[in-house]
Amino acid sequence: MGGIGSGRRFQHRGPHLEEVPQLDVRALKRGGLFDQITSNGSIKWTNPGLPEAALEYAYADSTLCITYAVKALHTASNVVSQRIFIDRTTCNYGGTRTWFLCPSCGARKAILYCASKWFLCRQCYGLNYTCQNEVYADRMIRKARKLRAKLGASMDLQMPISERPHGMYRSTFERLIRQDQANIKNVVGAYSQRLLSKPN
Ligand SMILES: [Zn+2]
Repeated sequence: MGGIGSGRRFQHRGPHLEEVPQLDVRALKRGGLFDQITSNGSIKWTNPGLPEAALEYAYADSTLCITYAVKALHTASNVVSQRIFIDRTTCNYGGTRTWFLCPSCGARKAILYCASKWFLCRQCYGLNYTCQNEVYADRMIRKARKLRAKLGASMDLQMPISERPHGMYRSTFERLIRQDQANIKNVVGAYSQRLLSKPN
């Protein structure tokens, strides 16, 4: 009991994409990047724990130009320059909030993610798909359990199926065991996808 697929529902509180390089406009603001009308220098990802990579930036006219190297799978590294517009809104209690405008959808965002080549918002990258992951993982768990019910086996997917039901052909049993292993692989796959977008 208590293993994968043993009944716990996913806790969904929105994704936390700590493994994706990101820029948080609030951290940049705290660092004074927007204090001057123009500035330039280098910045780093604002999420800790990633291999450090310096990004060159130039800020002027509410536009942040960043230049960085991306290395996609199977390709040589590629230097990318991207312009990100900066917006400001006034707070109810005075002061202003600074925002990135997502270069793809134009929405005000505090954090942009570099999931492939560009810095875009989470929604534009489809990185908020935890819900769909849940649906998929739940479906895979149900499928696995249905098969196990047929076999009279443990509902704990971590428990191996050892007993062949009375009267079931060995070849049928072996086929269902293989199906069970495939099901478990799918469940584990759905779980690890979820880890990539795990909750805060
Ligand atoms: Zn966007």
